[in-house]
Amino acid sequence: MASALPLQNILSCPAHVLPDIVQTPIDVSQKPYKAPTRILIIGAGVFGLSTALSLSQRPEFAQTTITILDRSPETGVFPSRDASSIDSSRIIRPDYADPSYAKLASEAQARWRETEIGRDGRYTESGFILAADAGPLMREDGSPTGIAYAKKSWVNAMALAQAEGRPLSSVRLMAGAKRLARVTGVGEFADWGYLNDASGWADAEASMGWFYEQVIETGRVTFVNGTVESLETNEAERKVTGARLKDGSTISADLVITAAGAWTPTLIDLSSQAIATGQVLGYIDLTEEEQKKLEDIPVILNLTTGFFVIPPRNRVLKVARHAFGYLNPKTPSQAPLGIPGSEKSTVKPISQPFTHIDDPSLSIPEEGERSLREGLRRLIPWPELQERPFSRTRLCWYTDTATGDWIIDYHPYWQGLFVATGGSGHAFKFLPIIGDKVVDCIMGHCPIEFQQKWKWKAVDDIEKAIVTQDGSRGGEPGLILEDEFKRVSKDK
Ligand SMILES: Cc1cc2nc3c(=O)[nH]c(=O)nc-3n(C[C@H](O)[C@H](O)[C@H](O)COP(=O)(O)OP(=O)(O)OC[C@H]3O[C@@H](n4cnc5c(N)ncnc54)[C@H](O)[C@@H]3O)c2cc1C
Repeated sequence: MASALPLQNILSCPAHVLPDIVQTPIDVSQKPYKAPTRILIIGAGVFGLSTALSLSQRPEFAQTTITILDRSPETGVFPSRDASSIDSSRIIRPDYADPSYAKLASEAQARWRETEIGRDGRYTESGFILAADAGPLMREDGSPTGIAYAKKSWVNAMALAQAEGRPLSSVRLMAGAKRLARVTGVGEFADWGYLNDASGWADAEASMGWFYEQVIETGRVTFVNGTVESLETNEAERKVTGARLKDGSTISADLVITAAGAWTPTLIDLSSQAIATGQVLGYIDLTEEEQKKLEDIPVILNLTTGFFVIPPRNRVLKVARHAFGYLNPKTPSQAPLGIPGSEKSTVKPISQPFTHIDDPSLSIPEEGERSLREGLRRLIPWPELQERPFSRTRLCWYTDTATGDWIIDYHPYWQGLFVATGGSGHAFKFLPIIGDKVVDCIMGHCPIEFQQKWKWKAVDDIEKAIVTQDGSRGGEPGLILEDEFKRVSKDK
């Protein structure tokens, strides 16, 4: 992701010379906007639900009917329990290497901190350590490493503290593994890092539940359980006219907003832009005493390895790996909607989510479990936790783009089709505001600093482009889920 300052300047940047990340360019375009009569949103995760709330609150859409569809198999449960927006926790941090996301996250963070969404235990400002292992600032391919990301982020975090009137001491540099271990009271988990007191974590499932209730209360949005099989089109007019569901029914709409997370590439050809990658999580049960010892630690993330832990709640500790993830290429029964005549609209394998809803006995590959175990041992090297089994593991799916930027834009060919996806493992924190940004983009007022980042992009070299190279990922790129599962059976 781009930064306002070249890296070499940032790394030698004294604390009082901070990048200006608080200037918002003003969008002066005032085009009149005519709202569609019927809007259909596919997916009730962070992108879909937040968009539904924002649409229901805008006067321009007062006469528009809004329907939101989700493949959730449980009636009245939105989103589906295997959506990436549903979990025990998500990190809420404005700690980004990219100043535009840092500023946007800070706007979202203010809502978590100051408004109802963050109450009743849904948001906890535990502090957050962003750390990395020592090493070069660039990978061989020229992309940034974890340490480069962390150092840029530190500068941006200080700039935000200054702009928001917080003391600079709320962002404390912690050079050295021993210092990091001493301050956190855990192991020597990284070589360099900083603690941002103004970051924390959210109970993701509870927050989504609260948000869903807010949308219901508007009385403006119809929720439908159903799985979209394909988008309906009028080819002569190059228009998307609605969606066909697996049960054979159709829902017509003048505007379809596709916010289907990691499933989006199975509906729309995004092969040049976004891909589903499976990420591993493990939960470990603690004793009351262990809970007490760990409950006040900050959230900790090492960007070189990708490992992170969230302070435990109810005697459960979560450890996870923010990684390149697993690919799960499968040939779909039909091609996703592409541009007619283009080679890309033919049926070919697409990486698709595979979750505990597809197979309730699903575990994670041995590679992932071993790696989580190593991460846990380094982060919390207590003898009593060394061999304690994970009480539960989970595969959770990112919708990854090459730069980690989202895709919030109209389809370049089909009218009446808008895409809001590409969360790339970091969109949850934006739940309180992302819908407003999506609706701004629908109305033609995409924030200027995001116009290039969020736009529909065509990338020629698919294989190369689709690894998220923003410096935030650990693990190995290109692992294939099925191969990793097979490796276990062979080893056993
Ligand atoms: C392990 C993990 C850790 C993460 N950690 C963080 C973090 O710490 N901080 C942070 O900010 N972000 C984090 N993220 C990222 C964040 O959770 C996601 O970016 C965000 O939740 C994505 O929301 P979404 O709406 O795109 O997708 P989802 O939440 O997956 O929602 C998509 C919905 O679309 C529905 N759907 C799909 N296909 C169809 C269809 N054909 N018909 C009908 N409905 C359909 C699905 O059922 C689903 O409910 C993490 C993600 C994961 C997986």
